[in-house]
Amino acid sequence: MDLTLPPEIEQARDTVRRVLEDEILPATPAYEESGEFPRPLVEKLGAAGLFGVAFGEDVGGTAMGFQAVAAIAEEISRLAPEYGYCMNMQAMTCPFTIYNWGTEEQVRRFVPDLVAGRKMGMFALSEPGGGSDAAGAMKTTARRDGAVYRLNGSKQWITFANACDTGLLFAKTDPAAGHRGITAFIVEPRSGPGFAADPIAMTGLSNCLRSCAVFLDDFAVPVENRLGEEGEGFKIAMNGLDYGRLTVTARLIGLARACLDLARDYAKERVVFGHPIATYQMVQHLIADMTVNIEAARLMLYRMAWTMDRGEPATREASQAKYFASTTAKHAAQSAAEIFGGYALADEYPIKKITAYVNMLNMGEGSPNTQRILIAEDSLGFKDANRHPVRRRTGPVAE
Ligand SMILES: Cc1cc2nc3c(=O)[nH]c(=O)nc-3n(C[C@H](O)[C@H](O)[C@H](O)COP(=O)(O)OP(=O)(O)OC[C@H]3O[C@@H](n4cnc5c(N)ncnc54)[C@H](O)[C@@H]3O)c2cc1C
Repeated sequence: MDLTLPPEIEQARDTVRRVLEDEILPATPAYEESGEFPRPLVEKLGAAGLFGVAFGEDVGGTAMGFQAVAAIAEEISRLAPEYGYCMNMQAMTCPFTIYNWGTEEQVRRFVPDLVAGRKMGMFALSEPGGGSDAAGAMKTTARRDGAVYRLNGSKQWITFANACDTGLLFAKTDPAAGHRGITAFIVEPRSGPGFAADPIAMTGLSNCLRSCAVFLDDFAVPVENRLGEEGEGFKIAMNGLDYGRLTVTARLIGLARACLDLARDYAKERVVFGHPIATYQMVQHLIADMTVNIEAARLMLYRMAWTMDRGEPATREASQAKYFASTTAKHAAQSAAEIFGGYALADEYPIKKITAYVNMLNMGEGSPNTQRILIAEDSLGFKDANRHPVRRRTGPVAE
């Protein structure tokens, strides 16, 4: 077993560092100040090829695979957690779901702009009534009206909805049919009236890369923008979330690494009772546990990516890795806060910001309890987590 990453993935990681440090981070404070969505900066990440690594060259990708997705997402999150969202909206859950389930025409029309960062994506599943029971809580409806569907209802927590050009949205075409009555739509919020997105106030998270409440009032979606068949939406959403868990797991590990790096440096500098606190055994225990957990979480992440690269179902690997990475990142944030003492609360250090993103990702793409339920049912033999076949585009898009 070879656990070294190929040189092209190492290079992609170097590109992340260079683009973030040279171009993105220096320009971000102005957007944080104004609250404006940083479109030109997201486009720079896209132009650097960071969103297209799982896609074919015909849609602007580089076909490097899921290990590359994992490496890039971890590095972005370590250096700039707020841009980690892009790996879901521009690289995985939104465009990759269209790529796998869309018609040739839909893929040609929508995917290249998303992975290039020229258009902003979205994945609108959760509703105010609850995200864990996405199907049961879904009240949003889509009613066929000639050449369009009319969408009514609301969505909650939808990241990038206020900037979205092309997103995925799930609604019930047959409310009586439970999860079999859900249909997926490719929506273009700027195409007409009836779509409104209000950013939700959240202390500690970015002021320019936001998650929103969405309101739909007879919003018209052309029939040709339906993704898959009526009633296939839940299957499509769950499939998309597996790939979302790849990036969310990597992003959690990136945050845990940021905590470890900061805590190590601080523990070596901070002198209390005449010695650096790094020399005290109880502080070393925290550092040791953070280090080992991160290594273990990363092995699980790459097992998931490797399984996906082989084209095999990876729901089990994704749930286990996301659950463990959540635990790892929460422990790392808590340990870093202890090592920093009172300074963990000071604005001069990013511990509060990292903790806010850990809490966000702990829930995003399924809460720890949601993962535990899936893992336990699989482990007990009640439901094989990997029972669903993989839906994956393998060849180029037809002209
Ligand atoms: C900043 C942010 C961005 C987000 N971005 C998006 C996005 O872009 N698109 C999108 O669709 N969603 C998004 N989400 C929503 C996210 O996926 C949900 O928050 C998540 O699925 C949990 O749903 P909920 O918050 O409604 O919690 P609930 O479903 O209300 O659950 C609350 C708690 O109850 C527990 N619980 C629920 N059911 C059970 C059970 N049967 N057994 C045991 N425990 C249970 C849960 O584990 C959780 O701890 C985002 C969330 C946040 C905070």
